[in-house]
Amino acid sequence: MQLNNLFKRPKLGETEAPEPALRGDTDDPSRTCPRCQSVIPEYQLSDQGYVCSCGYHFRMPARKRLLSLVDEGSFWEMDAEMKGLNPLDTPGYEEKKEKLRNSSGENEAVICGLAQIHGVKAAVFVMEPYFFMGSMGCVVGEKITRLFELATAERLPVVGFTVSGGARMQEGILSLMQMAKTSGAVKMHSDAGLFYLVVLTDPTTGGVTASYGMEADITLAEPGALIGFAGPRVIEQTIRKKLPAGFQRAEFQVEHGFVDAIVPRHNQRDLIGRLLHAHIQKEVAKHV
Ligand SMILES: [Zn+2]
Repeated sequence: MQLNNLFKRPKLGETEAPEPALRGDTDDPSRTCPRCQSVIPEYQLSDQGYVCSCGYHFRMPARKRLLSLVDEGSFWEMDAEMKGLNPLDTPGYEEKKEKLRNSSGENEAVICGLAQIHGVKAAVFVMEPYFFMGSMGCVVGEKITRLFELATAERLPVVGFTVSGGARMQEGILSLMQMAKTSGAVKMHSDAGLFYLVVLTDPTTGGVTASYGMEADITLAEPGALIGFAGPRVIEQTIRKKLPAGFQRAEFQVEHGFVDAIVPRHNQRDLIGRLLHAHIQKEVAKHV
């Protein structure tokens, strides 16, 4: 048995079809839809909310998603400058972070703040796929925890969008500790009788699935999103059995009770608005 690859963590791209990369030159970038093979210019994809006309959902930059969700001009961002350190002195980590800051325009893998959605004030978080594939290190854990603590203090609902390859390997055990920390903050918010809604987007895996990704009152998902803890290839290698088709996709998770409903991106804002209004009416009724 070869031992040198025993602890090698397969990259997401090795287990799942990777997100189609930009093609063409940088002045005229475009992407090919993996489902219908249409070549779509980047500007058009952005206008369409990163959804192909065939219904395929591309990954969406966090800030664009956020702005398409909240009422115009209502977003107040918190902890925007939190950048974190390199606690384990992982070689190349600082350089990689700097590179991703430049390419994504974000300081870390989650954006947090307060906003209004259909006129209802809420605490909001949106994870960034283009910063370490939304992996959770100390900064992500701290920002999520602070957001839930603020929401609890201000008696606000939380609306969140996850995308994550799991824990931030470069931060080792410290990244795993964020699972307990964030879960504690979600529990306090829940114990205060407050509402938490999450939308799981492709991919939501590892430590985020095992913490605040699966702790909401209402769990929605985008069509076709990969949702699970370990990747399918790791599970197949461990149990030595072939997994069923569509295993860990959103549709599979709805069938098996882990997700309440699949909601296409264009319908999300209205549905979330309706659910927030229903929650507020319930709160008012409780106090009459
Ligand atoms: Zn398509």
